Amino acid sequence: MTSALPDTPANTLHRRAVYLPSVDKVLQEAGALIERHGRSRILRAVQSLLSELRTAALTHNEAKDEDAPCINDILKQVEVRLARQDSSKLKKMFNLTGTVLHTNLGRALLPDVAVQAVVDAMTSASNLEFDLETGKRGDRDDLVEELLCELTGAEAATIVNNNAAAVLLLLNTMAMGKEVIVSRGELVEIGGAFRIPDIMQRAGATLRETGSTNRTHLADYRNAIQADTALLMKVHCSNYVITGFTKSVELDEITALGRERNIPTAVDLGSGTLIDLEQFGMVREPTVREAIEAGADLVTFSGDKLLGGPQAGIIVGRADLITQIKRNPLKRALRVGKITLAALEPVLALYRSPELLTQRLTTMRLLTRPRTEMQQQAETLIPLVQQALGDAYQVQGAEMSSQVGSGALPVDQLPSFGIKINANPAHKLSNALGRLEKAFRQLPRPVVGRIANEAFCLDLRCLDGDQQEFIDQLAFLKP
Ligand SMILES: *Cc1c(COP(=O)(O)O)cnc(C)c1O
Repeated sequence: MTSALPDTPANTLHRRAVYLPSVDKVLQEAGALIERHGRSRILRAVQSLLSELRTAALTHNEAKDEDAPCINDILKQVEVRLARQDSSKLKKMFNLTGTVLHTNLGRALLPDVAVQAVVDAMTSASNLEFDLETGKRGDRDDLVEELLCELTGAEAATIVNNNAAAVLLLLNTMAMGKEVIVSRGELVEIGGAFRIPDIMQRAGATLRETGSTNRTHLADYRNAIQADTALLMKVHCSNYVITGFTKSVELDEITALGRERNIPTAVDLGSGTLIDLEQFGMVREPTVREAIEAGADLVTFSGDKLLGGPQAGIIVGRADLITQIKRNPLKRALRVGKITLAALEPVLALYRSPELLTQRLTTMRLLTRPRTEMQQQAETLIPLVQQALGDAYQVQGAEMSSQVGSGALPVDQLPSFGIKINANPAHKLSNALGRLEKAFRQLPRPVVGRIANEAFCLDLRCLDGDQQEFIDQLAFLKP
């Protein structure tokens, strides 16, 4: 097409903007896209793309007349944009960090029985708060309360959104406007801004610290008790250990003191477990049942840490206290949805057969995976990863140690096996490991490992069941 305007650079730009097709013209050709996405969405996408192209045409000096896109190009660009918008933000990943219960990667993976129960609850009506015996309104906690009592020896139980909420609700119910005694050695900060002193304050309770960071005696608890002491509290140290010259008071001594002075005792177990982990070769972690047997009046723990279920906070303990907790209006604000309860029930049910947990409960299976299995897997994967990376990198098998994660057993390392990738020094690639880490992160199903001792490490413990998908996407690996 020719133009009446003289051929100055400014006029060329102007002409290009003018030659962009109109929105109507583009829409006339967009039948297939409109059918798939609806007219209003395509209209908006075309309008915004054309307006961007117009702005670009009027500002980019080096543009030539022929660069003006045709309708087909525009439709293709619209299609690419919509596909990008539609790709989910929450992506499946491979957690090869070696930390099994990784808070940033979603903690526990649910076993199939729980997934099926969730699907059913999401797609059918259910007796979430409906008593099938009486036909009257029920309490959603009833769905798992009996099971929790059976597994822990407690009299009653209630469920909230997460363990932080459980601690908040417990403190608010038991100690609003009153004092709670906690040892200085247990004023935990869990990652992500959960700190016992802060939660205490938000719950309206006053923290009375006792003892010292490394040593607290029963007499310290006894001396800290005032007229307005409402609760003695013990907190699991979760993500740290105090070693050396230390002393903490056993739970049964604290609960005995509490009974003597008529003050309830609560324990925040954090991860908490329902079974003795030593039977699977792991380090001991106090069980919920032991805390109840030691006389704790209330115990709180997470649903998605060692328990291996959905995100939830569980409170078990004395029936009269659980009743008070359920009556607190905050309970309504912190309650869980049906999806959580649907997943929690079958997970808890698996604990009726503890010896079978390593086969049936995903978290327990991953935590106990035999090292030889991971080593065999490494032998399969090493040549494939090496081939994908070329000779700029050296790939080999290596002993590694995994962690439980989420504050459980912070110093317990699980012997593991994985793939170690070093940069080939002959290639003098700048930031070779950083590029490699990023390339794995940018795969269609992102892979996260960790960089340690000048190598990028992929711990294979959690690559269980979807190995082929890992292999198939190696072709896209471009460090
Ligand atoms: C993890 C943890 C919490 C918080 O539990 P969430 O389920 O993450 O809310 C509270 N207390 C202790 C001791 C913990 O380890």
